[in-house]
Amino acid sequence: LVRAERSALAHPREWDRGEGPRPRGGLLSVVVPVFNEEDVLLATHERLTGVLDALPLSWEILYVDDGSQDASPQLLDRLADADPRVRVLHFSRNFGHQLAITAGVDAAHGDAVVVIDADLQDPPEVIPELVAKWREGYDVVFARRAMRVGETWFKRATAAAFYRVLNRLTEVEIPVDVGDFRLMDRRVCDVLRALPEHHRFVRGLVAWMGFRQAEVEYIRQPRLAGESKYPLRRMMRLAMDAVTSFSTLPLRWPLYAGAVAVVLGFAAIAAFAALTAVHGDVLDLLGLALSALLVCTGAVLAAVGLLGLYLGTVLDEVRGRPLYLVDRAVGPGGEASPRE
Ligand code: UDP
Ligand code: MG
Repeated sequence: LVRAERSALAHPREWDRGEGPRPRGGLLSVVVPVFNEEDVLLATHERLTGVLDALPLSWEILYVDDGSQDASPQLLDRLADADPRVRVLHFSRNFGHQLAITAGVDAAHGDAVVVIDADLQDPPEVIPELVAKWREGYDVVFARRAMRVGETWFKRATAAAFYRVLNRLTEVEIPVDVGDFRLMDRRVCDVLRALPEHHRFVRGLVAWMGFRQAEVEYIRQPRLAGESKYPLRRMMRLAMDAVTSFSTLPLRWPLYAGAVAVVLGFAAIAAFAALTAVHGDVLDLLGLALSALLVCTGAVLAAVGLLGLYLGTVLDEVRGRPLYLVDRAVGPGGEASPRE
């Protein structure tokens, strides 16, 4: 169903309207992905509602239970029973953090949506700052981790390396040290909803979107209880999704490497030919053969890279991202003229 909805919306023309910013107020949705968080849920809920009640907005909290195996689902149902502003989506199994966020944003009704982890590593007290920036007119307000407390050096080192490598590879600037803790305006959510791709690296998609983006700094707290649901294996998969959905550069590497090998091989052959011309005799048959081999393997490598070049364009087409997004259109008609 969600897929059908996505593809129905996934027509590039859908984004051409450039309606411009809407009034900043009304309902705030808070999306919380939950996977086996029974130890922290009640504390999280209490702190979250405390912060939200102090805001001059109405709010809803949307918990997405990502196939939890512990008591989280029952706890969430109780929270929803006790407060009509709380909604819960239970996944049929564990689909992963990024899809839990996606489902939450899809189901949110708010004029703005905040995504926050369930383990209190992202302090809810930052939410008013996010909202304040939103009211200033920013469409995306992301929370940058100025400092991480209580995470292993390994996690910190891998995260730091990951963000830096990613930015080397990608064309869109994906902000460093920013997780999924952020506020998004309704129109950003609508674009996100309509992006049809399956391998979703949400923070990359949001960066790709543009619009007015601002950041707020915060100190990443240690997990309240329980342990990280992102073991190395999952982090690797996230990193892979991030790279493959935002860069086709690795696909072209063989082309460059192959081209270099071919040039080097030919240069070596030329050198041997020159030597032969001078000495009148082939001095180094083995070297000549190896140079010829270098030319051949280089050619094969380059051919693979050439295929990668085409595969990259196929990927771009298949992902079906809109060609462009209009922020505002000024002047008669108030709309960008559609390209035909
Ligand atoms: N999470 C999820 N599905 C998963 C893994 C994690 O919904 O498969 C949730 C988790 O409950 C938490 C958030 O995503 O609210 C971040 O996960 P975690 O704290 O384990 O990651 P870390 O902070 O260690 O990167
Ligand atoms: Mg965490």
